[in-house]
Amino acid sequence: MSSPAAEMRPIADAFGRPLASLRVSVTDRCNLRCQYCMPEEEYVWLPREDLLTFEEIRELVAIFTELGADKVRLTGGEPLLRRDLPALVGMLAQTHGVKDLAMTTNGVLLAEHAQALYEAGLHRVTVSLDTLRPERFRALTRRDGHERVLSGIEAARRVGLKGLKIDTVVMRGVNEDELADLLEYGRRAGAEVRFIEYMDVGGATQWARDKVFSRAEILEVLGRRYGRIDPIIEVSSAPAERFVLPDGTVLGVIASTTTPFCRTCDRSRLTADGQWLLCLYAQTGLDLRKPLRDGASGDEIRALIAAGWIRRRDRGAEERKKLEMLGVRGILVQIEGLRTDPHLEMHTRGG
Ligand code: SAM
Repeated sequence: MSSPAAEMRPIADAFGRPLASLRVSVTDRCNLRCQYCMPEEEYVWLPREDLLTFEEIRELVAIFTELGADKVRLTGGEPLLRRDLPALVGMLAQTHGVKDLAMTTNGVLLAEHAQALYEAGLHRVTVSLDTLRPERFRALTRRDGHERVLSGIEAARRVGLKGLKIDTVVMRGVNEDELADLLEYGRRAGAEVRFIEYMDVGGATQWARDKVFSRAEILEVLGRRYGRIDPIIEVSSAPAERFVLPDGTVLGVIASTTTPFCRTCDRSRLTADGQWLLCLYAQTGLDLRKPLRDGASGDEIRALIAAGWIRRRDRGAEERKKLEMLGVRGILVQIEGLRTDPHLEMHTRGG
């Protein structure tokens, strides 16, 4: 355990960005096979024995909070595939310093677990939903389950989970014709919709620049339909820029591909096997599982994390954008590379 004397203090990286937000992947497994994330049927999975236990996750999260991280988001893979996830939620909700505990899920199993997650203390949930059309869902994810995702969203609201969001990856030629429908659906469901630009990360081995439906295009399409769209001016490190329609509907756009926001990025990622990644695009991480299992003290692990964050100079999305300007932006990692190291996969690092 870490020393109780340790005070929570904000810690900043080489560019002055605080360590504030931690995304914890609890499994690399997923029950969907989205084209832009897990286009293969079979993968090299993380060895079971390497997965952090709930106790180990709690211990690491507690250390991160001592360094200033107060936002924790559970992700995966599909987090609801991790057995007894509400138990972990309960442990993290009671961890001193965790002010915001959220989860990103594809929603397929959400209806079954929403009540338990709420009772365990989950604060907010984001559901990934790219289409309202069941046949398109099947083509995009290569699985059934569209109806279950919609039931999951309803259940989340019914049980009282707050801050419901819907995340939609917009791809040209796939779902850019559904922006307004998704917004209307979000309004009915009591969820804020956020449109995400298609990113060239991890398993996006079919990524191509011309498939990216940009922030500018998203706003143009919505502007034609709804009229004036005003930006909401707010000081925030959240990835989404928020906008408001004339009728008051609020939406977000996450423009990591065309308008990267590395300079405000306060996020880092813990994989299910305890690799700590300082950037979504990072090629390597810092192994926290080994020192933890070798018996390092909380103070020692805290020093490791602090040293890593202080050195952090990552600006992955901006570097990708620079390559585009040089005309050489392509797929980040080819399939052979992903097979050699599953840590390079989006479903391992948690999106
Ligand atoms: N299984 C959960 C889910 O579907 O929300 C959590 C993990 S998933 C990797 C997290 C988020 O990453 C999802 O919203 C997904 O749409 C997004 N994502 C995955 N690959 C992406 C890509 N190539 N571009 C943009 N977003 C992507």
